[in-house]
Amino acid sequence: MEEKLVKMLIESKHLVALTGAGVSAESGIPTFRGKDGLWNKYSPEELANPQAFAKDPEKVWRWYAWRMEKVFGVEPNKAHYAFAELERMGILKCLITQNVDDLHERAGSRNVIHLHGSLRVVKCTSCENSFEVQEPPKVPPLPTCDKCGSLLRPGVVWFGEMLPPDVLERAMREVEKADVIIVAGTSAVVQPAASLPLIVKRNGGVIIEINPDETPLTAIADYSLRIKAGEMMESLVEPVKKALS
Ligand code: NAD
Ligand code: ZN
Repeated sequence: MEEKLVKMLIESKHLVALTGAGVSAESGIPTFRGKDGLWNKYSPEELANPQAFAKDPEKVWRWYAWRMEKVFGVEPNKAHYAFAELERMGILKCLITQNVDDLHERAGSRNVIHLHGSLRVVKCTSCENSFEVQEPPKVPPLPTCDKCGSLLRPGVVWFGEMLPPDVLERAMREVEKADVIIVAGTSAVVQPAASLPLIVKRNGGVIIEINPDETPLTAIADYSLRIKAGEMMESLVEPVKKALS
C-alpha cells in the first residue's frame, strides 16, 4: 500500500495538502477536538468569537497571549518537516492549513495558505494596520494601534467571521487544480475547509486522509490511514526522496 501511495505522489501533477491541529499535536500543541483537546479545558467556542472580544477583550487577549506563548515556544515535528521536504522536491505544490501556528513555515514550507490566519499576526480593529510579532503582547494593558489608537486584536479568523475572500479564493484555485490531496490531522468539520477535499474528489482526484481517528471525510477518502501524521508522512517521504535521488 505504501509503495502504491509513494508512486502516486511521485506521479501526481498537482499535489496539495490540507492540514489541521492534529499535525501540530506531536509538537505539543493541543488540538481543539478529540482526547485532551484544548477546548475541554478552556472552551474556545466561548472565547474565540467577536462577541466575547467585545464583551471582555482583556480575557480574550489573555487567552490568546497564553496560546501565542505556547506556540512560539515549541518546535516543528516530523510531519511539518516531511511536508516541507515534499515541497522542496517539487512534488507538493501548495499546503493549505487551518492551523494558526507557524510550524509549517518554520519547518521550511514556503507556499502556505493560512485559512484561519496566524498567531504571529496582530491587527487593528479599526484601520488597516496589521503586523507580525515575535512575542505575545503583555496584557494588561490592552494593546492599542500605533496608527489610530484603537484596540488591536489577534490576526486570526474567529467563529462567525468570514474567511478573507482572497485567501479562500487562492485555496480554491489550488484544489481545483489538484489531482491528489493529502488531508492530515483535521477533524474535517470546520467549514469551508472541510469541503476543499470534496472538490478534488468531484474533479476525479484522490483523497489520502491521515488521522488516528475516523472523521466525516473517512467515508469518501480513497485512502484513510489510521496513524499519526509524523509517522505516516515520514514513511511516505523517505521512499519518495530515494526514488528521486
Ligand atoms: P481539530 O482539533 O478539530 O481536530 C484535530 C484532529 O487531529 C482530530 O481529528 C484528531 O483525531 C487528529 N489528530 C490528533 N493527533 C493527531 C496526529 N498526531 N496525527 C494526525 N491527526 C491527529 O482540528 P482542526 O480540524 O484543525 O480544527 C479546526 C480549528 O482548530 C481550526 O480553526 C484551527 O484554527 C484550530 N486550531 C489550531 C491549532 C494550531 O494552530 N496548532 C490548534 C488547535 C486548534
Ligand atoms: Zn489602527
